[in-house]
Amino acid sequence: ETWVYAFGGGSADGDASMKNLLGGKGANLAEMAKLGLPVPPGFTITTAVCTAYYELDRKYPDTLEAQVDIALEAIEKETGKGFGDPENPLLVSVRSGARASMPGMMDTVLNLGLNETAAAGLAKKAGDRFAYDSYRRFIQMYSNVVLNISHDEFEHILDDYKDRQGYDLDTEMTADDWKKIITLYKSAVQHNLGRPFPDDPKEQLWGAITAVFGSWMNDRAITYRKLNDIPEEWGTAVNVQAMVFGNLGETSATGVAFTRDPSNGDPVFYGEYLINAQGEDVVAGIRTPAPISRERADKLGSEDAPLEEAMPEVYTQLRDVANTLEQHYKDMQDLEFTVEDGRLYMLQTRNGKRTAAAALKIAVDMAREGLVTEEEAVLRLEPSQLDQLLHPTISEEAARDVIITGLPASPGAAVGKVVFESDEAWDLAEKGEDVILVRIETSPEDIKGMHASRAIVTARGGMTSHAAVVARGMGRPCVCGAGGLQIDSKNGVFRVMGREVKKGEIITVDGATGQVMLGAVEMVQPDLSGDFGLLMEWADKARKLKVRANAETPLDTRTAVEFGAEGVGLCRTEHMFFDAERIPEVRAMILAENESGRRAALNKLLPMQRSDFEEIFRILEDRPATIRLLDPPLHEFLPHTDEDMEDVAKASGVSVDVLRQRAGELHESNPMLGHRGCRLGITYPEIYEMQARAIFEAAVKVAGETGRKPIPEVMIPLVATHKELAILKAVVDDVAKSVFEETGVTLDYMVGTMIELPRAALQAGEIAKSAEFFSFGTNDLTQTTLGISRDDAGRFLKVYEDKGIYEKDPFVTLDQVGVGELVRTAAERGRSTRPGIKLGICGEHGGDPASINFCHLTGLDYVSCSPYRVPIARLAAAHAAL
Ligand code: ADP
Ligand code: MG
Ligand code: MG
Repeated sequence: ETWVYAFGGGSADGDASMKNLLGGKGANLAEMAKLGLPVPPGFTITTAVCTAYYELDRKYPDTLEAQVDIALEAIEKETGKGFGDPENPLLVSVRSGARASMPGMMDTVLNLGLNETAAAGLAKKAGDRFAYDSYRRFIQMYSNVVLNISHDEFEHILDDYKDRQGYDLDTEMTADDWKKIITLYKSAVQHNLGRPFPDDPKEQLWGAITAVFGSWMNDRAITYRKLNDIPEEWGTAVNVQAMVFGNLGETSATGVAFTRDPSNGDPVFYGEYLINAQGEDVVAGIRTPAPISRERADKLGSEDAPLEEAMPEVYTQLRDVANTLEQHYKDMQDLEFTVEDGRLYMLQTRNGKRTAAAALKIAVDMAREGLVTEEEAVLRLEPSQLDQLLHPTISEEAARDVIITGLPASPGAAVGKVVFESDEAWDLAEKGEDVILVRIETSPEDIKGMHASRAIVTARGGMTSHAAVVARGMGRPCVCGAGGLQIDSKNGVFRVMGREVKKGEIITVDGATGQVMLGAVEMVQPDLSGDFGLLMEWADKARKLKVRANAETPLDTRTAVEFGAEGVGLCRTEHMFFDAERIPEVRAMILAENESGRRAALNKLLPMQRSDFEEIFRILEDRPATIRLLDPPLHEFLPHTDEDMEDVAKASGVSVDVLRQRAGELHESNPMLGHRGCRLGITYPEIYEMQARAIFEAAVKVAGETGRKPIPEVMIPLVATHKELAILKAVVDDVAKSVFEETGVTLDYMVGTMIELPRAALQAGEIAKSAEFFSFGTNDLTQTTLGISRDDAGRFLKVYEDKGIYEKDPFVTLDQVGVGELVRTAAERGRSTRPGIKLGICGEHGGDPASINFCHLTGLDYVSCSPYRVPIARLAAAHAAL
């Protein structure tokens, strides 16, 4: 078996397609060598060796050593140097490289192969000071990375020595000083390990290789793999490569570059470099690197000479290499390079990480340049990244006075005045003020206040807390779990880290980073036209699924349409009932003792509800609207305070005492499984009659006014049996018939049901006899299938995820093998009864890319999600189809 793949000298055993075997770094080094780019020669020990190493209980396959020796000889031949050669020593770097880049893996060891004789040889060729400085760096690095001796020990020794000599800077150290340091370092190693620092280059090499493979199983790497779903079987590769020196003097340098600007995607050559430096010095931040191009130096006001001027020929060559690589990989590249005495060497290339804004610009530009197809461009943007582009963001240049950092619960940024109470938020917002709601945590009663606020900050709660979920749904930026916040709402202040912020003071919230800042920080508004609009057009061409939005207010409906929704997939009529003006009538209706009492209250609600629907139909024009009839348990509307009771008494003409008794009767011990959904319609058909009448009268009216044809899809919730639906469909059809007769206008409409109970999914074949569409209410379907209440899951679901019982939060990403199986079954059975039955999904999953992919594969017609997630869903649906 081949365990070792060589590269260099214009050829390579491997190539970029072999990332699984060679790791990302090794595969791309091979590819660059094949392209004839200047890559120092080396070899990759494959990921298969890593796997074998652990299978053999931390031993190597027999044939590995011989293969390494051969590959090492090839480097010697190519460089004309010898490993351990006292005259002309070959030094190498040992670099880890997994398939996916992975923090937690062993750091790179540079300058390996040095010992006393090799250092003397190197000194003859490149100077004393350079040789002994390199040697002591190597001892320090190797001891730290491979032998696990702390960096500090060596720093201590050096600082001590410099103190005694009266030196301030490393540059004052002479070759002789470094030699003394080397002696001190070596005795520190002896002291720590009870054995000497290894002198034999081969021993050094195997020590480093073993450290790389060993690091695959260190805690940091294991944790990272868990968090990122990287299987343990993947293993890591090890790259051994001839050293090139960027620290040989003023004609040498090292740096990193991007073929385009990774922060905004501008097609400019972008990067940083340091003269006379090695390896990680650029990232380490000890010296400030200079920009590569004149253009960028001007932009940053940098006084250091850019590479373009310091080494013009190298610059031109590097630019050419960068272009070659970008054209070759057809993506923005992140490059590492070193210049040794005026000669350029490439040490790494990979697809560069980028912000969402840059990803968008680069994808669209590359499609325009003909480098990628429109479809490929669509695939370059991750749907989840899109979120960042849909909200205002904080300007990159702006100074931030961060007072606390919590969880980045809902993206976007906002500026506003601090308020602590939801009512107050609402009142101030009515007056046109921008407010930010700061609370310990939020509850359903804060919904209105949250809606009225520009952003929400909470001291308690995680990424799936009430505040987080609701804020994401509303598209409000939110920072939650900012534990250091001490909120003293009575006195109208919050304190954090010894600072005090009063009610009415201006703060800025960045939901993308979790930062809360004092004052108004400058913001950038999202641009939904231009490149964004273009990419979304391409996505729309590619996708099969339609995308609708969950919306019940005119504002949400308008936002949804602006974001490209093709209709409303879920209009929850109960939200319209919560309105302050109507709630007394709603309560009167609920507390009515008999049908005539209920009808009286319903008659007052009818015109209000009708006008809600009118507005929605007007905004939607010819797009369909799925309107769900009343669903929640009645007790949710019950009056809480005495004042509320009196309001209801006034509205209904019934005494407070009677009302109280009636409220008591409505109490349920398990309301979510109680008198709700279609069970309300079955017991009080007049409620659904009123709602149906409001819908059809509104549709007819808007049709008359605008000449458009509204498409109502009336949805019956929480159906478990075909009988329930059959009875209620008859109610709706009767109302439609009367309205059409009364008005002389007939419109197309549909009656269907929400599939949100396992029984309904199983009985879908029967139910489809009456249902003209199914909408999978996967929030409830998940609750009822898993038997887990979403509101109470927070206490244990995290542990379930950590233990891998559920891989993902099933309320965020559809549980495909459980709940998904019911969806698939229902879709099949529904279709067999009624071919072409319209199928959709509403609920949080409709905006989750992985769940959307499932919906595509299941052949649903559409997904429906919150308005702000519509573009994400459009893109995810395109990804699913491509
Ligand atoms: P990482 O994965 O952390 O980027 P690398 O293996 O790329 O680690 O190594 C880090 C840095 O070390 C490189 O950017 C490069 O500057 C330097 N380096 C690695 N190998 C060599 C080499 N053969 N010659 C010179 N410098 C090297
Ligand atoms: Mg690197
Ligand atoms: Mg439901």
